[in-house]
Amino acid sequence: MSYVLGTYARSVKDNFISGKGSYLYNDKNEKYLDFVQGIAVNALGHNHQALVKAMKSNSEKPWHLSNLFLIQEQEKFAERICKLTGFDAVGFQNSGAEATELAIKAAVKYFYSIGQKEKNRILCIKNSFHGRTIGTISAGNNPKHTEGFPLLNNFDHFEFGNHDEMNEKITDKTCAILCESILGESGIKVIPNHCLQGLRKLCDEKNILLICDEIQSGYFRSGKFFAYQYSNIKPDIVPFAKAVAGGYPVGGCLFTKKIANSMGIGSHGSTFAGSPLAMSLANVVLDIMTKKGFEEHLNEVSKYFLLKLNEVQKDFPELILEVRGRGLMIGIKMHDDPSKFISLLLKNKLIVVKASENVIRLFPSLIVSKEEIDEGIKIINKTCNEYK
Ligand SMILES: *Cc1c(COP(=O)(O)O)cnc(C)c1O
Repeated sequence: MSYVLGTYARSVKDNFISGKGSYLYNDKNEKYLDFVQGIAVNALGHNHQALVKAMKSNSEKPWHLSNLFLIQEQEKFAERICKLTGFDAVGFQNSGAEATELAIKAAVKYFYSIGQKEKNRILCIKNSFHGRTIGTISAGNNPKHTEGFPLLNNFDHFEFGNHDEMNEKITDKTCAILCESILGESGIKVIPNHCLQGLRKLCDEKNILLICDEIQSGYFRSGKFFAYQYSNIKPDIVPFAKAVAGGYPVGGCLFTKKIANSMGIGSHGSTFAGSPLAMSLANVVLDIMTKKGFEEHLNEVSKYFLLKLNEVQKDFPELILEVRGRGLMIGIKMHDDPSKFISLLLKNKLIVVKASENVIRLFPSLIVSKEEIDEGIKIINKTCNEYK
């Protein structure tokens, strides 16, 4: 028996003792191709040499000081991420849920600070995912996550794609619309460019803030640094996390100036967030991602992967309904519950992760090679043949 709280259905029970790039090795020295990468966290694969080196050298310096201190690595990373994304300020957190909490707090606080205290409602997409705190499950409104818990009462919801319902739910009290640019846990559902553009326009007209949750889709997972960039829009607030420090927990939230100005001293904080160790790793990840060729490789490999997966879909249409997503944020939508198929993939040494709506998610490292993609495709093909 396990003393660990039983909130997870563990699907992978191997004891993995080492990792390198796209591969994991268990204690029987069996090699697995990892297309989960910590659920889109290890964007540079396992144990990237630059991160290992930074971890080693920074472990000799103070790991943690607290935010009583001015932290040079934090200042450096803040400037870099703001300049890279065109925002004016960033607040640091340790996880995605916290990053979204900060986004929600800042949206409400902004209108409070300009005397509009009643404007405090957030409009979200039903069954989306923003984390597991009381605030973020109130936002996501997925019965699987909310059952039995008291929810915050300042959230409204509309069904994905239902524009009429969305317009109905917008009132004078709506302070923000919060959405994932690409819905991840809900099954890799891309918000089309014209819809995000429409949302931006609507928000401008009605003086509503637009919050794009880029926790899963961000950091080049979609092929662009943030997935909303496909729509050529700019949100007002952007929570991000998962891939930021290549496997070390870092989250954050980006703001435009007017919103940042409303979050004064004491309005938010965190003991752990923005530590020297965390920020040094975040800086190394940015070093690698902003190097020439990183984006080109990613886009070449992701196009190839999508092409190959679509071929598999054409060969097994009775199993696979469609392949969808952007960049290396890819979902395979099956006709039926994919749990058994996922177990069979695991038996064939490919690790993937389930999402809602019968979708299998594939999150290879962003520096995955074409050969590794071929290997993954081979296993998926083999599994399709065995499964039917
Ligand atoms: C993972 C995720 C979160 C929550 O992140 P945690 O680090 O698990 O708290 C929030 N939003 C989205 C879109 C996510 O994918």
